[in-house]
Amino acid sequence: MSETICAIATAIVPQQGSVGIVRLSGDEAQAIAARVFRAAGKQRFESHRIHYGHFVAPDGTVIDECLMLLMAAPRSFTREDVVEFHCHGGIAVVQQILRTCIEQGARLARRGEFTLRAFLNGRIDLTRAEAVAELVAARSPEAAQVAVAGLQGKLAQQVGTLRNRCLELLAQIEARLDFEDDLPPLDEGAIKADLAILHAGMRELIATASRGELLRTGLKVAIVGRPNVGKSSLLNAWSRVDRAIVTELPGTTRDLVESMLNLQGIPLQVLDTAGIREAQDKVEQLGIERSRSAARTADLVLLVIDRTEGWTCADSEIFAQLRDQQPPPLIVVVNKSDLEGPPIHTPTRGVVAQVATAAAWGQGIAELEAAILSAIGQQQLQLSNSDLAINERHHEALVRAEAALSRVDETLVAGLPLDFWTIDLRTAAQALGEITGQTVTEAVLDRIFSKFCIGK
Ligand code: GDP
Ligand code: ZN
Repeated sequence: MSETICAIATAIVPQQGSVGIVRLSGDEAQAIAARVFRAAGKQRFESHRIHYGHFVAPDGTVIDECLMLLMAAPRSFTREDVVEFHCHGGIAVVQQILRTCIEQGARLARRGEFTLRAFLNGRIDLTRAEAVAELVAARSPEAAQVAVAGLQGKLAQQVGTLRNRCLELLAQIEARLDFEDDLPPLDEGAIKADLAILHAGMRELIATASRGELLRTGLKVAIVGRPNVGKSSLLNAWSRVDRAIVTELPGTTRDLVESMLNLQGIPLQVLDTAGIREAQDKVEQLGIERSRSAARTADLVLLVIDRTEGWTCADSEIFAQLRDQQPPPLIVVVNKSDLEGPPIHTPTRGVVAQVATAAAWGQGIAELEAAILSAIGQQQLQLSNSDLAINERHHEALVRAEAALSRVDETLVAGLPLDFWTIDLRTAAQALGEITGQTVTEAVLDRIFSKFCIGK
């Protein structure tokens, strides 16, 4: 018997949202539905059918006119009986429906518990479960695409293939250990070839980690520079080009303006640190400090200078202020390039690129974006539908698997006995199994599903 869980599955904003969904999953789901849902006319409860009627509290009060969707086990997301009430959105109705379900014996679901059950009941592997949360959190169409690829099981499939290869090799070697005399000797050449294929497959997946990280967490970019060089103009021009602006919020002080842009799917949080050199009094001094620390903690700094003045002492001063122990890569943006000016000599150390723009005329943005992509080691981030990107957890496991595989290589080269190989091959297979969830601990599951929202 599984406990029946329930939760509000839709985002709840007071007085907004036309539809709210309350979801139940577990052995009691149908029985609870039968007690609280009054179907109109002569509808009988049938699986995979939408029923129309009223949600009625035990005391007879009609709480809402709603739709009830029934999905009987095992043909449901959790492989348990699932019931969904599609009611009028708005906080009051959904909460009353939720409360009534709880009074009728369901308990409030924990974070990600529906998805956890789908995993535990074998409907989806762990990478697909993670993709569910990733899709919900995706901040750009490209990030969503990667999540959908995961949802379709593309990562699970590739990892599964690698793991099977490991297990096949292991089986071959173990057979030799058990029946040494009856089998032909191992073909070392074939094993080396197999190991090379495994290595290549792992490396291919590991190489998607940085792309995944970029798509998921994005980049923080700080624009710094003297007053009047055109920082705000640059941010404006840029915002107009990358129309997919997510939000534009004023910073905590008037010294920081933040925009969310989308650079080929990478969510960019761009800060216009207006105050870095504009301080007159104490309040402004505080702003400067904030700007400076924003620039220091950015993933990338754009230092804007004025073409008509070239590289000035004041620019050197700002540049020096940003030199930290580990300063972020810095791109010098030579703005007002529509005008003439002296030759420009920027420092070479710590400057990864120099780009000419004329922000007031909307020029140079494409070049700036190309320079940014190149600075972060991504020439382009064009994604096709089948592209996947691993997350931090997958990355860590793959690195472990690859290290174990390298030890197998060494054992082979050193001519050590067969039993030495099996240990490392087993470690590799184990690490790969953690990715898809074949071998996984409760602690890992807790960590994954605690990041979900309630109702997922
Ligand atoms: P900020 O103080 O660095 O944010 O500079 P602003 O963006 O406020 O720009 C200062 C002045 O420079 C404004 O009058 C802009 O119109 C002008 N400006 C900005 N970009 C350009 C440019 O590319 N070419 C020219 N000619 N003027 C520019
Ligand atoms: Zn400005």
